[in-house]
Amino acid sequence: MVRHSSRIELSQKALTSNINFVRKKIGPKVRLSSVVKANAYGHGIDPFVTMAEKAGVRHFSVASAHEANEVMACKNSSSSVMIMGILYDVDIAWAIENEIEFYIFNYDRLPKVKNIAKALGKKAIIHLEVETGANRTGLPKEDFGKALTFIKRNRSLIQFEGLCSHLGGAESDSNKFKVDQQHKRFKDFIKLCKSRKMLPNYIHLASSAGSLVYPQMRYNMVRAGVIQYGFWPSPDVYYHHLDETNKSSDRALKRIITWKTDIMDLRDVPRGEFIGYGTAYQAQQDMRIAVMPLGYSNGYPRAQSNRGHVLIHGKKAPITGLINMNVFMVDVSNIPDAELGDEVVLVGRQKNSVIRVSSFTESVNLLNNEMLSRLPSAIPRTVVR
Ligand SMILES: *Cc1c(COP(=O)(O)O)cnc(C)c1O
Repeated sequence: MVRHSSRIELSQKALTSNINFVRKKIGPKVRLSSVVKANAYGHGIDPFVTMAEKAGVRHFSVASAHEANEVMACKNSSSSVMIMGILYDVDIAWAIENEIEFYIFNYDRLPKVKNIAKALGKKAIIHLEVETGANRTGLPKEDFGKALTFIKRNRSLIQFEGLCSHLGGAESDSNKFKVDQQHKRFKDFIKLCKSRKMLPNYIHLASSAGSLVYPQMRYNMVRAGVIQYGFWPSPDVYYHHLDETNKSSDRALKRIITWKTDIMDLRDVPRGEFIGYGTAYQAQQDMRIAVMPLGYSNGYPRAQSNRGHVLIHGKKAPITGLINMNVFMVDVSNIPDAELGDEVVLVGRQKNSVIRVSSFTESVNLLNNEMLSRLPSAIPRTVVR
């Protein structure tokens, strides 16, 4: 196979440890749904789903039917898939046929789904998403009663698998008022289900932050995304964890991803010369430069231009000049033994040094999620111990 310009390694040990951490937090009675949207937050759906299954996960959540299809191609037969977002009308039959669970967030969907299920002679497995205050998707209260009536009447064709909503901002303490209000409204929907004797199999509200910070919001399922990948959703959530466990620091979560490349070329640059495009970087002394074979088109943030560094031989090599579309340069003047083809770490550990995604993204004002989910799916992923 022809080599790609960079490669990603995924640690099974780190993932298993993160999943166990979440499990311990939520307890044995709460189902963990692993959120693998956005190509498993850039980690790669295909390897990640298999790794998560090894760690005992049997339920996966995605944002779109297209992503669900990717999970279908690699999951084992005992795992379920749930679409939390876009499912076009033309794909409803496909979802039902493949027993893929999906959200319903407007009433008009229900009769459509019923008709398709009837034509297929197979039950649709649905989660009613309700509006509690995030105001993105969710069935409004006015429509909820008639939705329940419709489902009850068409029980043989529609399985009421879940009642759910999404908290808009559980990762920040300053949103507590809003989150509590959302929870209060969510409880009203649950009450309505109870009074109609129509409780679904699963009730779920919390994502990573919610499931760590608000135990009363776990119900019998949580949808955990960012935390499985080894990132605290926010400093607030981290400090909440420290407070709860009475620790002063904790490395409970482990980064799964390591992103590597190799030195493509080396050159000596005399003092006064400019490096790369324009005049962004001028050598202040004679320098030795290493060329990296990737750039912003390969997911390396352009905002790292003239800041940040990579690791070579366990040492920091600062970025010199602009990140180009498919190359950038680093200063290896202090790494004299650097040679053509030597391994370069872009994210992760090398010897005693480490580049965390967070330090990386803080400097360029990108969310961890944003940076990770932009890693092109073309970069090969391999699973390591
Ligand atoms: C992305 C997403 C999640 C997971 O969020 P994390 O903060 O990454 O845990 C859960 N639920 C819904 C509806 C989402 O869109």
